[in-house]
Amino acid sequence: MPPQLHLSPWEQGLSDQIKELKIKSGSHSPSVSMLRQAAPDIIFKIDACFLSNPYATDLFMSNLEREVIARGGLRALLEFYPAQNSTIAEQLGQTLNLRPENLFIANGATEAIQSVVHNFAKKKILVNLPAFSPHYEFAKTGHEMVFYYLDKKNNFELDLEDYLGFVRKEKPDTIILTNPNNPTGNYLRLAQMEYLLEALKEVETVVVDESFIHFAFEDPLYLPVSIAKLTESYPNLVVIKSMSKDFGIAGIRAGYGVMSEGRVKALLANGYLWNSNGFSEYFFRLCTQPKFWEEYEAIRKKHIIETQKFISQLKQIPMLRVYPSFGNFVLVELPDGYTARSVTTVMLGRYGIYVRDCTDKKGLQGEYLRIGSRSKKENDQIIKAFSQIFAPPAAAKPLWEKLFPKVPRRRP
Ligand SMILES: *Cc1c(COP(=O)(O)O)cnc(C)c1O
Repeated sequence: MPPQLHLSPWEQGLSDQIKELKIKSGSHSPSVSMLRQAAPDIIFKIDACFLSNPYATDLFMSNLEREVIARGGLRALLEFYPAQNSTIAEQLGQTLNLRPENLFIANGATEAIQSVVHNFAKKKILVNLPAFSPHYEFAKTGHEMVFYYLDKKNNFELDLEDYLGFVRKEKPDTIILTNPNNPTGNYLRLAQMEYLLEALKEVETVVVDESFIHFAFEDPLYLPVSIAKLTESYPNLVVIKSMSKDFGIAGIRAGYGVMSEGRVKALLANGYLWNSNGFSEYFFRLCTQPKFWEEYEAIRKKHIIETQKFISQLKQIPMLRVYPSFGNFVLVELPDGYTARSVTTVMLGRYGIYVRDCTDKKGLQGEYLRIGSRSKKENDQIIKAFSQIFAPPAAAKPLWEKLFPKVPRRRP
């Protein structure tokens, strides 16, 4: 009999409630506030379902308090229209050293993805699975979706030659990649991306979602990486970026797309004039300050280092299969006999820790959780909870004792 988790009647009830809320939330997870309302007796401690750098949220808050709230500027943020799309693009262009004409400011990366898929995808869209679900859910009627399955035997790494063979066979006009990928965490290095882009020149639109790129690294100094600049050499390339995870500000809806000037013009001719808001406008302005950027870089690296440590600690728990990750989260496969729902329920009910049950993720066979890396203190609590749940059964004797049972020694 494989080991199993035994749920108390209260935990069983909680498990059913989670299931019901999940149905209401579609392909995303119920939020903590939804869970709080439905099950007021849960004591929430850690949200490791949502993915963000918590130190970055602190940094944004302290700037907002000092520069806006303490100076009485909050009212103006709410009362007036935010800057227009192209005005914010000018600021962001300075920050990223990109031409503003190539920047499309979006109400979160989700809007950038939607606008690109709706305006530039023609007939056939290729998405790798498992994926961030809006990448395939935003297809319009008339779009044909094709999926390329990342192989778990290969740790969900993209096999470039096999993928290119698939593209040549299927001939999609639009392909969407996420780097690092969510929920698998696998990462394509800059050299691999350049190789792919060179080979994909015939594809009309190549979308690369770099929403987790701030957590990826290729050198011991964790210098920032991105292919955004390559949009200058590859006119078919569209790079999408969310600020929600790395800057910890999902609530203000800030994201952008980097693409050819013609495409930015086409999108702006269709709308999106005031699609930012006072807070995101302030955030983009903050990004132009070298001091903010310097402080952000320090906590970005701190979060990467702590995340990688967290992942290696999870790997120490013998029953879990922990996939390598360049995101600020990690995909974990559960041993036989454990379901993602029962572990999610126990984590929440006994420890107040909310993790992502990946049962609904297309392209994952087996029972998986996605665990977000939080602050160091919270990560330690998550490790402790998992170590307790997956502690080796106390009854099992070590092999040594089975082979050489202890014989009471006779007194001489
Ligand atoms: C979370 C996520 C997004 C959404 O970003 P928003 O800016 O909050 O809309 C986009 N892409 C990926 C891969 C994500 O995981």
